[in-house]
Amino acid sequence: MNRLHIETPLIESLPLATESGGRAWLKVEALQPSGSFKLRGIGHACQTYLSKGATRFISSSGGNAGIAVAYAGRQLGVPVTVVVPGSTPARAVELIEQEGADLIIQGESWQEAHDYARRIADHKNILIHPFDDPLLWSGHGSMIDEIAGSGIVPDCVVLSVGGGGLLCGVIEGLIRNNMEFVPVLAVETQGADSLAFSLQGNHLRSLDEITSVATSLGAKQVARQAYDYCRSHEVTSHVVSDLEAVNGCLYFLFAHRIMVEPACGASLSVLLKPIPFLADKKNILIIVCGGAGVSTEQLNVWKQSLSKK
Ligand SMILES: *Cc1c(COP(=O)(O)O)cnc(C)c1O
Repeated sequence: MNRLHIETPLIESLPLATESGGRAWLKVEALQPSGSFKLRGIGHACQTYLSKGATRFISSSGGNAGIAVAYAGRQLGVPVTVVVPGSTPARAVELIEQEGADLIIQGESWQEAHDYARRIADHKNILIHPFDDPLLWSGHGSMIDEIAGSGIVPDCVVLSVGGGGLLCGVIEGLIRNNMEFVPVLAVETQGADSLAFSLQGNHLRSLDEITSVATSLGAKQVARQAYDYCRSHEVTSHVVSDLEAVNGCLYFLFAHRIMVEPACGASLSVLLKPIPFLADKKNILIIVCGGAGVSTEQLNVWKQSLSKK
């Protein structure tokens, strides 16, 4: 079966090159048809579950995972139900409905929407988890297969962490392409820093609440595999402010004319303010994870209100 994601551009960014002289390579996942990298893993998972007899896909996400499942279902001719919390932005709802998915609004947070989605799922109506499924990770890993095919060997990968599906996929991709020695910088925003919180406590644990504007990073607890990979692979955790993440978006929009969510701006922001981890890195690979739930108006509103704090 044909894959649902596209091979994305890998471009060198001169505007984002680090002050230390490192080269910045961008893997532009924002250009996936669903607007984020999520289509890689979700496309792979949906195709696999379809081959095993799934007759409907159920997604618990008011964000990019829901859009990706809706896109995958339409491409595969499989009906989709997306369960979203009441807090979901109108724009995301619009994009999900545009893909022809059925929408159910349930609860106030992702957890409540997810609990409901689990209840309506069964062996035919398959729940597509937004980050905690090995099929997702192996699909996400295809972005590293493409890097390996390009001949560029980065000496670090910068990526954002929500529930840790992207982290797991990138590390799986590094391992299967004999690049297991490449360290990862795992970036989160304050108020959505569930990986940093667990690493500090030396055990997997859950944030009480999500307070960041980077809602796509808003998993209160990361997948166990993401936490475990931080033990077996060289992963450095890094937390930025919401304002830094929003500034990352605005600078990227100016520099490369592509709009991304703060969830992605968080990773881009580490190049704007030199951090020790990057000081000796010569070829920095940044996963530009993307995100469709954003507008220039919203970025400017955030910038204004966060600057006042
Ligand atoms: C989902 C998402 C993330 C976080 O990915 P996880 O696999 O949950 O860690 C980051 N950025 C964007 C744009 C996303 O959609």
